[in-house]
Amino acid sequence: MVFQHYGLLPHRSVIDNAAWGLEVQGVDRDARYAKVREVLALVGLMGWEDRFPTELSGGMQQRVMIAMAIASRPDLLILDEPTTALDVTVQNQILDLIMQLKRKMGVSILFISHDLRIMLGFADRIAVMYAGVIVEEATREILFSRPGHPYTIGLIDSIPSVRRRKRRFKTIDGRMPLFSDLPQGCKFYPRCKFKMDECLQEEPELDDLSYGHISRCIRSKDLMSNGAIKDSQS
Ligand code: SF4
Repeated sequence: MVFQHYGLLPHRSVIDNAAWGLEVQGVDRDARYAKVREVLALVGLMGWEDRFPTELSGGMQQRVMIAMAIASRPDLLILDEPTTALDVTVQNQILDLIMQLKRKMGVSILFISHDLRIMLGFADRIAVMYAGVIVEEATREILFSRPGHPYTIGLIDSIPSVRRRKRRFKTIDGRMPLFSDLPQGCKFYPRCKFKMDECLQEEPELDDLSYGHISRCIRSKDLMSNGAIKDSQS
């Protein structure tokens, strides 16, 4: 797993930080150094093995964290906001690196992000969460072209675009509710611009719209057939 904040140990060198997971698993020193040298090369840190975290940029420190996570050759790599603390250029480099690792190692990736723009760039499948539950899930192509949940529609609509530069920047009204004070019925009700009285009766179940496209909204089919996303972008 790779977290948003790279928590390298300052007194350990790059190779010892990256080898930490293998060390905890009891892999002997020669074997773990050999494995870690391979993954440091994969993440572009060959030659930096003996440096210390204070000598590295934020992007390099995150690469060490990724090296540590892949050193054990996991089947699943969980990345929790791995680029949020990085500037945009470094962010793109890390995203390219993640895609390369996916191709070279065949590892599955669960990428957690609040930035839908990033997910639309490379995810195969996207699950959108609101107030602790999945409200919509679909392939990237379907989610972007035919979103069925008003929260997803709002998120897509608030992505800045140079093609729409004369248009006023759109946001989703209201704020995320407190978990101690969740609304009755649909949790998105107070912020939803498509709400109806029926939405207050009970929280909608995830409904299968087509071929694995699921949404937690009683109006999804209606919104998709009426092209709500196109309307909201005009
Ligand atoms: S169920 Fe109603 S309030 Fe909830 S997202 Fe759908 S339209 Fe909006």
